[in-house]
Amino acid sequence: YQAKRDRTGVEVYESKRDSNTPDRLGLLGDLRRALDAQEVELHYQPKVRFDGQVAGLEALVRWVHPERGKVPPDEFIAIAESSGLMPHLTEYVLETALGQVAQWRSQGLYVPVAVNVSPRDVHTPGFAGSVAARLARHGVPAGALQLEITEHVLLEDPQRAADTLAGLTGHGVKMSLDDFGTGYSSLVHLRRLPVSELKIDRSFVARLAFDVEDAEIVRCTVDLAHSLGLLVVAEGVEDDETWERLRDLGCDAVQGWLVAAAMPAEETTAWLRARGSRGWQRPRAALPAAE
Ligand code: C2E
Ligand code: MG
Ligand code: MG
Ligand code: MG
Repeated sequence: YQAKRDRTGVEVYESKRDSNTPDRLGLLGDLRRALDAQEVELHYQPKVRFDGQVAGLEALVRWVHPERGKVPPDEFIAIAESSGLMPHLTEYVLETALGQVAQWRSQGLYVPVAVNVSPRDVHTPGFAGSVAARLARHGVPAGALQLEITEHVLLEDPQRAADTLAGLTGHGVKMSLDDFGTGYSSLVHLRRLPVSELKIDRSFVARLAFDVEDAEIVRCTVDLAHSLGLLVVAEGVEDDETWERLRDLGCDAVQGWLVAAAMPAEETTAWLRARGSRGWQRPRAALPAAE
């Protein structure tokens, strides 16, 4: 395999050079073992409203391979999906996230957590019931869990997907539509999916402050979502100017490195405590020097 080092000096597994089967199989076996050994971690990234209040956290899976270093989630999620390991990974993520939510609640931190689920999960028989049972086992109310899905859930057997999603929302779990705008015929999907939140994909947010067309796409998406009664979250907000544009366009919440990158659980606890009831405050832009 090929590895390069990222800015922090940790090796990053590079996928493009080794899509050969034995290697993928090796990685798959390693992932299976890592899940059993609980070596896969969750990091949490805040979603904040424009008044600074923390709207929730998104759980993002992190895997540091003992020899290869950090393996990007996109990479091993694709492997898990094409191999049948996905339900196992999702169980692990849900179990870890709900355990963490329960712990935070016992410490007086009532913050909802969003978990990403793959189309594979939504098509697993009994998925809605197993999520409800897991919530009950952890003593976590359904309203403290959100599931992020993508339009891809409708590609195969849309009726089954719709039934599962209806089951989940019936239990009180909130659904969020992730990466909105990158899929195929988004408007139809928006009507068919029982979601209460829409996340505008980073690819539209990134150049929002410079690109007139991206700004128009975001404006229309926000208006459309609001007219359907959905909350809108922008992902990948990295700078002040983008924050201000999104606020002016009426977006409800943002996520991105401007606020915080995904952090390990302990760091997240400290982050939440430090913000207290005031929420996150945007660092003041540098003021011109006084005369
Ligand atoms: P996503 O759910 O759309 O997550 C957003 C991705 O953008 C995350 O990448 C996050 O770290 C990154 N990000 C957040 N803020 C910024 C920013 O300001 N700038 C930039 N450039 N990037 C930002 P990550 O953690 O690498 O995850 C990639 C994708 O992997 C996720 O996209 C999600 O689709 C998938 N994923 C992650 N964890 C899980 C999981 O537990 N289960 C499943 N099924 N998929 C997961
Ligand atoms: Mg997501
Ligand atoms: Mg996304
Ligand atoms: Mg994404």
